[in-house]
Amino acid sequence: MSFRLAIVGRPNVGKSTLFNRLVGRRLALVDDRPGVTRDLREGEARLGPLRFTVIDTAGLEEATDESLPGRMRRLTERAVAEADACLFLIDARAGVTATDEVFADILRRRGGHVILGANKAEGQAGAAGLAEAWGLGLGEPIPLSAEHGEGMADLAAVLAPLVEGKAGEEAEEAPQTDVDVDEEGETAEGPRVPTRARPLQLAVVGRPNAGKSTLVNRILGEERLLTGPEAGITRDAISVKTDWDGLPVRIFDTAGMRKKARVTDKLEKLSVADALRAVRFAEVVVVLLDAATPFETQDLRIADLAEREGRAVVVAVNKWDMDPEKQAKLRALRESFETLLPQLRGAPLVAVSARTGKGLDRLREAVVQAHDVWNRRIPTARLNRWLAEMVAAHPPPAPGGHRIRLRYMTQAKTRPPGFVVMCSHPDKLPEAYRRYLVNGLRADFDMPGTPIRLWLRSQS
Ligand code: GDP
Ligand code: GDP
Repeated sequence: MSFRLAIVGRPNVGKSTLFNRLVGRRLALVDDRPGVTRDLREGEARLGPLRFTVIDTAGLEEATDESLPGRMRRLTERAVAEADACLFLIDARAGVTATDEVFADILRRRGGHVILGANKAEGQAGAAGLAEAWGLGLGEPIPLSAEHGEGMADLAAVLAPLVEGKAGEEAEEAPQTDVDVDEEGETAEGPRVPTRARPLQLAVVGRPNAGKSTLVNRILGEERLLTGPEAGITRDAISVKTDWDGLPVRIFDTAGMRKKARVTDKLEKLSVADALRAVRFAEVVVVLLDAATPFETQDLRIADLAEREGRAVVVAVNKWDMDPEKQAKLRALRESFETLLPQLRGAPLVAVSARTGKGLDRLREAVVQAHDVWNRRIPTARLNRWLAEMVAAHPPPAPGGHRIRLRYMTQAKTRPPGFVVMCSHPDKLPEAYRRYLVNGLRADFDMPGTPIRLWLRSQS
């Protein structure tokens, strides 16, 4: 039986929306099972390379025969009992409510794997709720937007070891007969153990002909990507796991790498959609440029996409073997990069040759470092000393005579790092001041190459 995830939470937090996003139209035919009352909905979910069953407690609101809280509790307990793990959703815009606390209580007492999701977290309206969600005592909340598909990579990252762990346990009991294309490259390893360190999730994106397949094949050490199944291949990103000179990585492939016979406008357009798919499931994104034509519009769009999706970014300039003016070129590239992509300030820029293999060691180190920074957590005490210094050095403005007070801050999340600053009149703080803080965080805590999120939360 596949891994089962129950989506639980009070009405209106977005359970059905998330269920629909994960399941699409692949609803399981569970309604046909005789003698089963259908108040739990089930479906086969897809999330990147992961396949599992989701259970949703939707339909709650129609209950008339008993009190809503009682019915909710009963359904939740049943869903939870039927599942391997549960995803507890709160509405980040509404913050933590008394009903949420009741749910948290049920889940805490039951133990087992609970993933806390703060839904409706798109934009900044969810920052307060996200910070509050820590207080539920269920670990780090994952900001999600079921409606806009945000946070799905973080969700996948948390689920991957659980889903793979379950698959591993079952492989031990019965030999696997059904090989999924997504699991390519893993079947030779035998059963997987739940405790195994997770490979770093990597995507290589870039324009057609930048050298993505050449690079990935070099990392894999053999011609593997281009020899995969051809016909009827799924449109989802597929992944290959490998050991990159001692670094376990899972590389997300894009269709653009596999099919390159028709280099047309259509393919150019497609490659951005492909890049997006790969980016969503990656932790670190390598934006691969062609040294002969760096920073074209499409490159900038792809890099910006990776930043907006909150991935760690490493820029690699390929075909360096062809370049005669190496040092001058590298300087010029660094400068263009700073002006064209200020949102990724300080991201590592590495010159490589996918063809000869030169520079790949440095690329690997840059990837590991970017991943570390992306996961970094800064202690609250240090942050607050830092905030006091920043404010002393450059006090925030006083619009209409009201000084904006920045009271304290904390790091609300990692992957990428996100900070909440409690202040008076958050809506009046100029964008330039926010940039001052973000750039300061980046420089003072040495966080190059990762998007940094900063939320202002009102506290008067
Ligand atoms: P359920 O009762 O928990 O199953 O919640 P629904 O999935 O029915 O969602 C309740 C409402 O929240 C609907 O109007 C959704 O469109 C909305 N909603 C769901 N997810 C999001 C989200 O990520 N952002 C925002 N802003 N609204 C959402
Ligand atoms: P993709 O479309 O991004 O996957 O690009 P490919 O990997 O298919 O490479 C496009 C072309 O660039 C091919 O002809 C490669 O042989 C060539 N190429 C890739 N990497 C390098 C490199 O480091 N140096 C040189 N000179 N050519 C390269």
